[in-house]
Amino acid sequence: MQILDGIAVSPGIAIGEALVIDNEGFRIPEHRVERDAVDDEVKRLDNAIAVVAKEIERNRDAIALQLDDQYSAIFSAHLQMLRDPKLHREVEQLIRARRYTPEYAVSVTLRGYAKIFQESDDPYMAERAHDIFDLEKGLLRNLLGHRREELSHLTSPVVVLAHNLTPSETASLDPKFVRAFVTEIGGAGGHTAIVAKGLEIPAVVGIGKFLTDVSGGDVVIVDGETGRVILEPDKETLARYREREERHREVAVRLEALRDVLAGTGDGVRVQLMANIEFPHEVDHCLDRGADGIGLYRTEFLYLESKTEPSEEDHYRAYAEVVQAMQGRPVVIRTLDLGADKMGFAEVDMEKERNPFLGLRSIRLALRNKQLFRPQLRAILRASLLGPVKVMFPLISTLHELRQARMVLEDAKEDLHEQGVEFNREILVGMMVESPASVTMIDKFLPEVDFISIGTNDLIQYALAVDRTNPGVADLYQATDPAVLRMIDTSLKAAAKAEVEASLCGQMSGVPAYTMLLLGLGLREMSVPPSAIPEIKNICRSVTIPQCEAVAERAMTMDSAREVDLYLRDESNKTVQP
Ligand code: PEP
Ligand code: MG
Repeated sequence: MQILDGIAVSPGIAIGEALVIDNEGFRIPEHRVERDAVDDEVKRLDNAIAVVAKEIERNRDAIALQLDDQYSAIFSAHLQMLRDPKLHREVEQLIRARRYTPEYAVSVTLRGYAKIFQESDDPYMAERAHDIFDLEKGLLRNLLGHRREELSHLTSPVVVLAHNLTPSETASLDPKFVRAFVTEIGGAGGHTAIVAKGLEIPAVVGIGKFLTDVSGGDVVIVDGETGRVILEPDKETLARYREREERHREVAVRLEALRDVLAGTGDGVRVQLMANIEFPHEVDHCLDRGADGIGLYRTEFLYLESKTEPSEEDHYRAYAEVVQAMQGRPVVIRTLDLGADKMGFAEVDMEKERNPFLGLRSIRLALRNKQLFRPQLRAILRASLLGPVKVMFPLISTLHELRQARMVLEDAKEDLHEQGVEFNREILVGMMVESPASVTMIDKFLPEVDFISIGTNDLIQYALAVDRTNPGVADLYQATDPAVLRMIDTSLKAAAKAEVEASLCGQMSGVPAYTMLLLGLGLREMSVPPSAIPEIKNICRSVTIPQCEAVAERAMTMDSAREVDLYLRDESNKTVQP
């Protein structure tokens, strides 16, 4: 059993067989062979080695004809490794003595070798680990035949283990088969984490190097609450986690009963509990959980899914589906927030950026690429006829940006009008507050918008100068940092004074321990991942506003993120009935 700790980004407990993406999605279905099959299995190993050796020889000869010896020497080195008698002895020993399948024995042995190389201080030696992974792939491909699993065509449940998953790769995971995923890199605020929560797949990121310690088919436990990952758990640990898995299910069933109850505090103050979505099909989750509306529709995922630029019709179809499904409930459509860690087909058009989060992303990218921006705005306007649609601009940092964005919207309205296309002329326009500049200048912004939504995912990273995707500084990425709390407080107070509606749609509003603080700071609308709605609703019902105000007041006097976090968890545990 091996215990690893990473960053918990999507809650839930999952137990399942590993699918290591690093070895091209090979899954080893069985680890053991019958005693009387051992000789045949060793023959299968020898055969695979012979076939792979032939393949390498062919590649070596083909390269030798085109390039000089230095290149074909790479293949000679692979051959030498493959024919190394010591390697053969070790693998055969595992098959004979432990009755491992050749697949499992090859994977365990070669991964052990790769690990030794990877841990070398010499970068040249560390790179050699890739050669060993190549050999592993070759042998597994041969031994497993067609039994290779594609991530997008899974046929049985797995726990996906990968070096990294991009937000769009994550979006393509099928929650029916992917019980959980774990990655070596990634941070708490990245969009991979956000998509995992949306899909309700438990996830842990930023574990550091561990893929050499695991082979496809190993049993893995993923604890999306604490960030703990356990490889090959012992019986007792497995039983303990199965029990926790069961308790989770029971709580979820109990909270389901709250679906049709309006969200509000114990002393009768109404709270709007909205949902964040990335894809139209998620509206079903929102309705199942009793969402009051969509508080953030991250439309850029339409671009991430597609190889070509979505047309106005593509936009319209997606928005119409969401607005109609929500049956009269408000839908806040955020205009595209591409760039930084959210790259799609636009990636090819973008210069490699040294600091992508400080670069050409979001509203900046939209304003410089009006051919992307205009069709989207036209589609949002057209969809505004189907229900209460609001439009929201992301990452506004200057008044100039807000005014420019509004101007492009006005142009789109004029064009539609001239073409005789109907839309809601009074569509409400809002902005996200997610840069320190927008907080500092909030009194100037408020008269020019109908609503604001605080985006703490970005606000935290820009306020504290901490990259939201970097596991190396994940300990500094804290929603409860006093600097962040003051920014939220300033924004909410200014919005209340200006009588402008305010919401908070960063992941922070979906963390149960922070609900009392946010209510106490005056927030009455939260937009959260759909899965978080029942629990947040339950907390709202268990507390009163004076109680929350006292908690917020005390939290605002504290000096550190840790102190605030511990205090809020403690207060929440004391007050809220599980
Ligand atoms: C945010 O920054 O808080 C937010 C909701 O937007 P995103 O996570 O898409 O950047
Ligand atoms: Mg943001």
